[in-house]
Amino acid sequence: MTEIKPIQLPDQQRYLNYNQVMKSEFAERIQKISINAGFTCPNRDGSKGRGGCTYCNNQSFSPEYCKPIKTVSQQVEEGINFFKHKYENQFYLAYFQSYTNTYDSLDKLKAIYEEALSHPQVKGIVVGTRPDCVNDELLDYFEELSKSVYVMIEYGIESTNDETLEFINRGHNYACAEEAIRSTAKRGIKTGAHLILGLPREDSETVLSHADKISKLPLTAIKLHQLQLIRKTVMAKQYIEHPEWFNLYTANEYIDLLIDFIERLNPEIAIERFISQSPPSLIIAPEWGLKNFEFAVKIEKRLIERDTWQGKHFVKKE
Ligand code: SF4
Repeated sequence: MTEIKPIQLPDQQRYLNYNQVMKSEFAERIQKISINAGFTCPNRDGSKGRGGCTYCNNQSFSPEYCKPIKTVSQQVEEGINFFKHKYENQFYLAYFQSYTNTYDSLDKLKAIYEEALSHPQVKGIVVGTRPDCVNDELLDYFEELSKSVYVMIEYGIESTNDETLEFINRGHNYACAEEAIRSTAKRGIKTGAHLILGLPREDSETVLSHADKISKLPLTAIKLHQLQLIRKTVMAKQYIEHPEWFNLYTANEYIDLLIDFIERLNPEIAIERFISQSPPSLIIAPEWGLKNFEFAVKIEKRLIERDTWQGKHFVKKE
């Protein structure tokens, strides 16, 4: 018979905060700096699809200091200069964020990651990618690298529902994401995932079912994002033509949805973000005007009001 084990969160915590997890991993303060190494994306250049995911306008997640015309070393230096007035002695993780940061030959990828790691204040890399853009050779390399520096591979899952993935033109299904995450974690490499809550044609129960499914995966951390309608995207056009496909939550509705989600989420998976913050000039809706830390405060408050916590309705099956 299957043994069912409840999991305990650390004392006084209502959810497993990724920042706290990082504090326990590093003696020093750690800051991520975004690097745009000039990758493209197989869902844009034709190898997996064309046009990209329907919500994607890649400008929406590239900080100003990060431009692909600069070398990786220049971007690392500028990123460090951007933050060092606040914390001079902190260390950094190079965050390869824009587009698909494993979409090149292994030799070129190694050169890019290792250029960032050659800076003495850079203690690791976080590599954002699609689950259909990793292979055994690359994961073996990350496994070796992770023995000496921090390595996290952050996968865009977006939804666990295959109909949704097709509708948003992701170019891969959920099984592909499961396979990539399991292959990464079994090598001892940290795994991150990105999910969008509230994609078109997903009702609240479908959104919550994502928590049940990803709770079975060996994930280190997750980023949860509200759906944002971004200018000059396919989705922005769909919203004008078919507003009935969309449920753009108010901030308070989203907070309650998030808490329902967190209650079903495995408490061993750390939560890194609750919302995305695209530049206001690019956002059509929703306009909440809240920064990530302000939102986190509201979540904490609401968790207390509802007297609930991450994993309240999760049971580990072994
Ligand atoms: S979201 Fe990522 S995978 Fe999708 S089109 Fe944009 S860069 Fe490519």
